[in-house]
Amino acid sequence: MDSPLLPSGFAFSQSSLQDYSDCPRRFQLRFIEQLQWPAVEMEPALENERRQQEGQLFHRMVQQHLIGLPVEKLARLANTPDLSRWWENYLGHKFELSGYALRTELTLTAPVGTYRLLAKYDLVAVKPGARAFIYDWKTYHKRPRDEWMAARLQTRVYRAMLIHAGGFLNGGHPFLPEQIEMIYWYADYPTEPARLPYNTAQQKRDWDALTGLINEIGNHRHFPLAEDEKKCAYCPYRSYCNRGVKAGIIDEMAESEQIGSEVNFEQIAEIEF
Ligand code: SF4
Repeated sequence: MDSPLLPSGFAFSQSSLQDYSDCPRRFQLRFIEQLQWPAVEMEPALENERRQQEGQLFHRMVQQHLIGLPVEKLARLANTPDLSRWWENYLGHKFELSGYALRTELTLTAPVGTYRLLAKYDLVAVKPGARAFIYDWKTYHKRPRDEWMAARLQTRVYRAMLIHAGGFLNGGHPFLPEQIEMIYWYADYPTEPARLPYNTAQQKRDWDALTGLINEIGNHRHFPLAEDEKKCAYCPYRSYCNRGVKAGIIDEMAESEQIGSEVNFEQIAEIEF
């Protein structure tokens, strides 16, 4: 099936690029056709919805804490076992933020050909001329392997974009890759964050791969279904694609499938306090 061109100026994000990597058809349905398809992504559905809502609320609580809202006010919101445990773990963890300027919910964009690439960060902590930490909060119930996190498009987009569009945070000079480190902090594994430093070779490899991927998608007319049908078990389009109607089981998700229940600021609606 021929597909309409992506509009010029289309903003790619780590999640749309990850969709394309996982399944070109999912990218087409979600971002070109903009097709809403109300299949239940996982069973049990209510359990998945609860996890997503708790993940969103936790992200919002941390963001509000970092911009200065009092702990006592925020603590009242930790009213479920998961939220209460994550919040205690967060408050008890010694983050390396002393002396750093904190930018929460920072969005950076850069042109790539006729398109744009954007990154929305949970937190970027900066000491101009010295270091920058990219923090991302994860509420996964299973801790993924560091190698898997390092290969994710989120890691590759976030670190590269801080170089390409984050110079204004560093006195007007682009950061050196070696000054940047990405840290995934797991709310259920507070003492086992994934620390992913960066270097010049990785930066070149990632930027070449990202621009190549964006050009490839922009020139695509055919978006095949995922070869690996396991990708379909947690996909909302599976009945549309005739890849089954039964939802995957949430507790059987492999690390590569936890993305379906992931929270990031591209998805979070405003939560009032
Ligand atoms: S159901 Fe499978 S083939 Fe269809 S969009 Fe989802 S992952 Fe791709």
